[in-house]
Amino acid sequence: MNEKIKTIADCCLASGKIDEEQIDILLAEARRDFFDLLYWANKIRETFFGNKIKICSIVSGRLGGCDQDCKFCAQSTRYETDFSKARTTSDEEILNAAGQAKLNGVANFGIVYSGRTVSEKELTRLQGLIKQIRNEFGLGVCASLGVITTEQAQRLVQAGLSRYNHNLETSEQHFGKIVTTHKYADRVRTIQVAQKAGLRVCAGGIFGIGESDDDRVQMALELRRLSVDTVPMNFLHPIEGTPLWGTKTLEPREILSIIA
Ligand code: SF4
Repeated sequence: MNEKIKTIADCCLASGKIDEEQIDILLAEARRDFFDLLYWANKIRETFFGNKIKICSIVSGRLGGCDQDCKFCAQSTRYETDFSKARTTSDEEILNAAGQAKLNGVANFGIVYSGRTVSEKELTRLQGLIKQIRNEFGLGVCASLGVITTEQAQRLVQAGLSRYNHNLETSEQHFGKIVTTHKYADRVRTIQVAQKAGLRVCAGGIFGIGESDDDRVQMALELRRLSVDTVPMNFLHPIEGTPLWGTKTLEPREILSIIA
C-alpha cells in the first residue's frame, strides 16, 4: 500500500477537500502505484456519492453549421466532415426522443445545440419544448446552447429548465491552442450567468487534446472554484477532417487515471 496516496485519501475522506500540492504528489505516486490511486478514488466516490449511477439522455437540437473553430469538433463549418452542415431537429423528433428517454427510466433529458449561441427564434421554440417535456413526461430538462445572456437564462428558467451545460473544455492556458474564435473567459461568464439565474451547471471538458497533467489539474480546480454541479468528462475520438484528426487516443489506463 502506498502510504503517501493513503494519507492524502484519508485527508480527502475526512475533509472532502484536496489541495494542489497533494494533487502533485498523487500524480507522481500514481506512476508507480496506479492501482492504489484507483482504490482510494473509488473509496472517496463511494463515501461522497454512493454506488448509484444517474443516467441522463441527450438529443441534438441542432447539429453542425457552427462558425466556431474548436479543433476537436466535427460540427464546425471550418472543417470538412460529415457533420459540418447545419441540420435542425424537428419538435416532433425532440419530443419522441424525450418520450423514449422516459420509457428508458431516465430522469434528466438534455437538448444540445451546436453553435456559439442561439437565435431569438430558436430560444422561443426551446421555451415551448422545455415546458412540454416537463409537463408531458415529467423529466428534468437540461440544455447546452452555447453562450447565453442573463435575460436568456432567465427565460429558460421560467420555461422550466433545471440545468445548463457549458464545458470549459480544458485549462485557460491550453484553451487558446484549441479554440481561437471565443475566449475561455466567455465560457466562465456563461457558467456564472446560468448559476445566477438559478440553473444548476454541468461543466467539464475534453481530454486527449494535447493538454498536460497541469492543464487537467487547473481545469478541475477552476470547476471547483465555479462550484459546478456535475462534471462531464469527454475523451477525444478524433474525427476525420478536424485539425485533431490523427491525434493518438488516450490509453484506457490514462483515462482511468484522469478520472481518479
Ligand atoms: S462551439 Fe460547440 S459546436 Fe461549435 S465548434 Fe465549438 S464545440 Fe463544436
